[in-house]
Amino acid sequence: MDTYRNKKIILLTKHKKELAIRPIIESALGCNLIVEERFDTDKLGTFTREVKRPKSQLDTARLKIMKGLKLSKCDIGISSEGSFGSHPFVPIQWNTELVLFYDKSDHLEIFGIYEGPDTNCDEKIVKSYEEALEFSNRIGFPEHFVIMRPDHNNSKYILKNIDTYDKLKDSYEKCLRKSKTKCVHIETDMRAFANPTRMKNIQKATENLVEKLMLMCPECGAPGFQIQEIVRGLPCEMCGFPSEMAKEYIYICHRCKHRYIETNPKGMNSPAQYCERCNP
Ligand SMILES: [Zn+2]
Ligand SMILES: [Zn+2]
Repeated sequence: MDTYRNKKIILLTKHKKELAIRPIIESALGCNLIVEERFDTDKLGTFTREVKRPKSQLDTARLKIMKGLKLSKCDIGISSEGSFGSHPFVPIQWNTELVLFYDKSDHLEIFGIYEGPDTNCDEKIVKSYEEALEFSNRIGFPEHFVIMRPDHNNSKYILKNIDTYDKLKDSYEKCLRKSKTKCVHIETDMRAFANPTRMKNIQKATENLVEKLMLMCPECGAPGFQIQEIVRGLPCEMCGFPSEMAKEYIYICHRCKHRYIETNPKGMNSPAQYCERCNP
């Protein structure tokens, strides 16, 4: 695909996300990824609660692209935004990485995603250096950095960039001296450059983006031919009543509006367990 050959694509980051994104995007598209660092992305939210993310994950990713395009006066941008939290149904940590691509001149917005339990995201209140050390070793320190605060996870005093055993000891002692409860809060650093596991997940989301971007419209050859609508109502295998499961996926080209309907490949009928009538 030649659409992006030698084109400039802007990535707004100060957390070294280009290390994950550049090799994949440049080799797939032949583009030049330009890193834009003139905006502090921490103003749009931090994982360590000093700045709350004001918008959704997708809207924050969009905002980063807009800032990047404005600063660099370019048309094509890419951004990455992660979130961490509990899985919606089971009590395990869950990471969702979004990598968004936007071509202003072509009105194309498309994203790649990684979702999974592969994360070291964790926190603990510790009462001794040995406990802090045990936590750090468990989460993959020193390749994965840690962050410390006195007392609890919202203390104003915060020490970041802890990536050696000397700094670990020193930071623990500093936090202990500031502590009212003789406790130190320690947590994993989720910023991309401080967390190789997260960096890998950003890579996976970028690979997903490239796969979607490389799908071309069969009519006009525009990149990023993607699903724009999902039609629900796959009939129940027992009674034929329309279920909530997808019946059709509708691809629409952003350029020529060509439509392609893909019927749900999982089979003609939905299992009775998803039927409101058979399994209310
Ligand atoms: Zn088209
Ligand atoms: Zn049924």
